[in-house]
Amino acid sequence: MFDDLRDLYQELILDHGLKPRNFRRPEDANRHAKGDNPMCGDRMELALKLDGEVVTDLGFQGRGCAISMASASLMTETVKGKTLAQAHQLSDSFRALAMTGSCPECGAELADEMERLQPLAGVHEFPSRVKCATLAWHTLNAALDGSKEASSE
Ligand code: ZN
Repeated sequence: MFDDLRDLYQELILDHGLKPRNFRRPEDANRHAKGDNPMCGDRMELALKLDGEVVTDLGFQGRGCAISMASASLMTETVKGKTLAQAHQLSDSFRALAMTGSCPECGAELADEMERLQPLAGVHEFPSRVKCATLAWHTLNAALDGSKEASSE
């Protein structure tokens, strides 16, 4: 799977894909959403704790390809502790990154987080895998917006 990807970041993606971080359901979560990418068979459930304007904890469970699991793992690591506005900004920025390979609009405020997500930028060369990478972020948006289902569109 994803044999075409030949870059320095492959190892990190595989590491997160095989051993996803925050693969759990936070007990006091108050926002939930499900994500589904039927093109690849990736499915996940995201649960997060929103305390006022801050995402204090989040975790996901599900199964799918290494890209979808790695993306969800990295998403939970970068979004934890962020405000709603920052989480939405990261989501927009990541989708630009996954679709085009770069994010000229991404501001300096979240530069460290975007650097952490950079390993997934390579998916823009593989259009069929972009949805694998963005599924976790669509699901995050759905959870933050309070809707139950995230589409992969
Ligand atoms: Zn996938």
